[in-house]
Amino acid sequence: MLEYDREHILHPYAPSNPSIDMTFVRSARGVYLELEDGKKIIDGMSSWWSVIHGYNVEALNNAAAEQLSKMSHVMFGGITHEPAIKLAKTLIDITDDALERVFFSDSGSVSVEVALKMAFQYWSSQGNSQKSKILAFYKGYHGDTFGAMSVCDPVTGMHSVFEKILHKNIFAEAPGCAYDEAWDDRYIADFASKLEQHHREIAAVILEPIVQGAGGMRIYSPRFLKEVSALCDAYDVLLILDEVATGFGRTGKLFAYEHAGVSPDILCVGKALTGGYMSLAATLTTKKVMAGVESNGNVLMHGPTFMANPLACSVANASLALLLDSPWQQRVLAIEAQLKAELAACNDLDIVKEVRVLGAIGVVELNRDVDLAWMTPKFIENGVWIRPFLNLVYIMPPYVTSREELTQITQAIHAVIKEFEASR
Ligand code: PLP
Repeated sequence: MLEYDREHILHPYAPSNPSIDMTFVRSARGVYLELEDGKKIIDGMSSWWSVIHGYNVEALNNAAAEQLSKMSHVMFGGITHEPAIKLAKTLIDITDDALERVFFSDSGSVSVEVALKMAFQYWSSQGNSQKSKILAFYKGYHGDTFGAMSVCDPVTGMHSVFEKILHKNIFAEAPGCAYDEAWDDRYIADFASKLEQHHREIAAVILEPIVQGAGGMRIYSPRFLKEVSALCDAYDVLLILDEVATGFGRTGKLFAYEHAGVSPDILCVGKALTGGYMSLAATLTTKKVMAGVESNGNVLMHGPTFMANPLACSVANASLALLLDSPWQQRVLAIEAQLKAELAACNDLDIVKEVRVLGAIGVVELNRDVDLAWMTPKFIENGVWIRPFLNLVYIMPPYVTSREELTQITQAIHAVIKEFEASR
């Protein structure tokens, strides 16, 4: 099977026919992935931020099975169903009061595409087609589709590969003020000046609240987000917050924008929405934005085949019930305290540039890029699944990870980085 995989199947950002084998996972339960040889390793990544309750969760399995026996899918054009209505109601209840309209889609990237369309159509439907750009941030990441790529970091994103065909947007300096750092107005100066200069052509600002994820795993000050929000109001520019990675408790608040007490015009969620069971995302917005989009008889121009897939919505309903009925915040804050205490040991290694922790997110930034082919088997030998990128060894474990399991993860990180340092 591995040979077939190597020859025929493409994996994320990987060459076809790669020189190293994929790790073959046979099954998964709790926080453990079971490999082909029967070895069980702890998933430190929650399958890229999504599997917050762990794998093979009875309540989610039951929700899927029950919905399967009713209908796994039905088109959403002209049709509606209980799983979607229930999920929309929960999302509206748990997010900011002003967010009252929900658009369901298939993935985080598509939720961003929909958010961008909402922003452009909001202005164009009202006769303002001059507002055709987005103000985004360096080190941001919003997905891999074309609209989403056009607002990702232009240097580490894929702009050079797709330069000729990407929509040209405007970029402000990445948030430079760390989470606990004292505020200084110079941190917002670049953003403020770009907005002042270009606001007439800017439809919306987009950013990941508090944590810039795949663009560099950077954790920044809530004050920065507050300033961005205030400036968007002042210049009459919409604010899109992308909580695809940070949503549903990951940072210690249900949504990361709560750290700053701001209110987005448009909000993207995905990943953990279904507890990582299947692909589903949503874009929420306000009555005001939808009224703008629908001015002069227009409608929002999007409609995927699997929009509001009933199976995915049912699992999302079960996942949100499980989350909201659990002491999720206590768990996430306990993980945060343990990560801070245990990852601090990495600071003693010369190769480590910085250790950062917020909620159930731990980042060890090295002063050189990792060697994935060398590191992956080392982590597996240490009983954990961790997938670093560039110079970042980072984790976002499931919220149900026990103290002992988390210690195994942090010890593995320390041991493998130490060995990496010695081997270079
Ligand atoms: N937005 C953010 C902040 C993300 O972290 C990601 C994925 O990592 C996306 C959007 C894209 O989501 P998806 O991979 O589901 O398309």
